[in-house]
Amino acid sequence: MSSETTPQKDVTEGQLASSQGHICPFCTVARENGFNIVWEDNDFVAFEDRDPAAAHHLLVTPKRHLSSVKSLRRSDVDMLRKLEEIGHLVLDQRNVPTHLRRHVIFAYRCTPLGFHIPPFSSVNHLHLHVQALPYKSVTRRMKYFISNGCFGKEKGFGWFVEIEQSIRILEKGCRIGVLPC
Ligand SMILES: [Zn+2]
Ligand SMILES: [Zn+2]
Repeated sequence: MSSETTPQKDVTEGQLASSQGHICPFCTVARENGFNIVWEDNDFVAFEDRDPAAAHHLLVTPKRHLSSVKSLRRSDVDMLRKLEEIGHLVLDQRNVPTHLRRHVIFAYRCTPLGFHIPPFSSVNHLHLHVQALPYKSVTRRMKYFISNGCFGKEKGFGWFVEIEQSIRILEKGCRIGVLPC
């Protein structure tokens, strides 16, 4: 479903995915490598997505290689909170108002900040998508569709998980996946 599974079409991460796993592009985020870095410290880096799907679209990654949200445990919650904090910090830098950082999907309130879940991710180095509304099109938005959970689940079936959902799932001691969790 997601174009992230077809790297040729994904300008954002395609260059990276085409390395076929020999080199992890997000382990070597640097200006010399063509990344537009907007924020950085010893442990994390934030840069512009090369093919923005929304009015603002950035990625925040831990510098340490972590494959994806599927590998996360409860002990990673603090790291996720840090990613979220940096995400809002870079949106602050761009003076993005709060109402453009929130949206409602079928009456479910969430933020346009989250992760793709393998196999729907082209770069298997954990990266938080940080976006501000509006999306450029409905099709672009579908790639970041957030699925509300029910019957005690935090998340329904879906290829994208919002940051707050991710934290709640891990805090319950569960793991994140495409199926409801
Ligand atoms: Zn990596
Ligand atoms: Zn992604």
